[in-house]
Amino acid sequence: MADSSPARYKPYNRSSIQRAPQWERIPAELREAVDVVSHVLPFRTNQYVLDELIDWNAIPDDPIFRLNFPHRSMLDPDDYATLRDLLRSGDKQQLAKQIHVVRSRMNPHPAGQMTHNVPRLDGEAVPGIQHKYAETVLFFPSAGQTCHAYCTFCFRWPQFVGEDDLHFAARDAAGLVAYLKRHPEVTDVLITGGDPMIMRTATLERYLEPLLDAELDHVQNIRIGTKAVGYWPQRFVSDPDADDLLRLFERIVSAGKHLALMGHYNHPAELRPAIAQSALRRITATGAVVRMQSPVLRHINDDPAAWRELWTQGVKLGAIPYYMFVERDTGARAYFELPLAEAYDIFRTAYGAVSGLSRTVRGPSMSAFPGKVLIDGTPTIRGEKVFALQFLQARSGGVVRRPFYARFDPEATWFDQLVPAFGEPGFFFEDVADGTAKSPSAGRSLDLVGA
Ligand code: SF4
Repeated sequence: MADSSPARYKPYNRSSIQRAPQWERIPAELREAVDVVSHVLPFRTNQYVLDELIDWNAIPDDPIFRLNFPHRSMLDPDDYATLRDLLRSGDKQQLAKQIHVVRSRMNPHPAGQMTHNVPRLDGEAVPGIQHKYAETVLFFPSAGQTCHAYCTFCFRWPQFVGEDDLHFAARDAAGLVAYLKRHPEVTDVLITGGDPMIMRTATLERYLEPLLDAELDHVQNIRIGTKAVGYWPQRFVSDPDADDLLRLFERIVSAGKHLALMGHYNHPAELRPAIAQSALRRITATGAVVRMQSPVLRHINDDPAAWRELWTQGVKLGAIPYYMFVERDTGARAYFELPLAEAYDIFRTAYGAVSGLSRTVRGPSMSAFPGKVLIDGTPTIRGEKVFALQFLQARSGGVVRRPFYARFDPEATWFDQLVPAFGEPGFFFEDVADGTAKSPSAGRSLDLVGA
């Protein structure tokens, strides 16, 4: 498809995917898996992803196919068989019950991520806000809680299948503005979802303009988490209100704010189409900055060459490599997870093969309960092989960048599986953090960095 022909956004879900021209190319057993698994995990794709991002000669191993289409092995084999049989039997009541059981087993609410850190103003909870780190507030506009396509690894999956209460999201910016006026320590607001870029420009504007209020001078940085740069770059190029969106970005920048689009790029294939490159150029021409981030995922980007291309191309097009995350402990995690040691090797190999300009990237980082924990190496110290760790971000600022060590475990895939090295009884921060994580096993994922 040529860059020049404006495309209309055309989504597909479980009921409509059969009408996509590419459906015929999917073998029967994969089609069955799409049907069965999408009863548990959310499924949405769109015509642009099908036409431009997936290599249909490479399915099912094509990384974007894996990123977007549910697969049989995303469910436990017994669960898969039970659900498939129930679907065949037509027993809707039993099916609904079983779906709920399977979802409950997939840790849908890791550490209560939608309810924790909700701040109060005059004794009342402020809807749509989370305040975990002193300088940063997360804001969830209610109109931005879906995405142009869904990622099979998404840690926010329960909200897309109706299992999460979306009442936490805010219908307007009034509560946010009132809260920020009382919190001069907040320098950063992250607008997140879902994907805020799913909103029309006029709606987005209603949320963003109030942040330009003179009384909010302390809010220096406005970040917008988005996957539209990968799944629907037309949002910035050829949608009917794409130009209005860019003018809005310009207004924010000329008001003296730093505007950062936190672009979720999971694979370099998302940067290859001409329109994706156009989107990046148009965004950065407004004075906004694009930063690139993604978890490292088995089947999708567990290859240093993919990261190398992503960061190198990103820099060439004006984006800044920012984070490589570790996949979180929810949803189809068993399908995507990698041992921390392997994630570190992928990072190090890719990092070692790029220009210094790409080495703005940090990782692999776990968004764990006490903060963002960086895996900084696997050295041998005093005869013991260890993970060298440090906080990049934490509830307690005093612990940031202070090195600490965990016993090396080649199988460990998350922070809560690590134990202190050198026979120490606990990690140092267990005394100095704010009392929320007294042991690593309490350290379930919490922090929100979604699109
Ligand atoms: S919230 Fe982000 S990770 Fe989740 S489906 Fe949307 S774009 Fe993908």
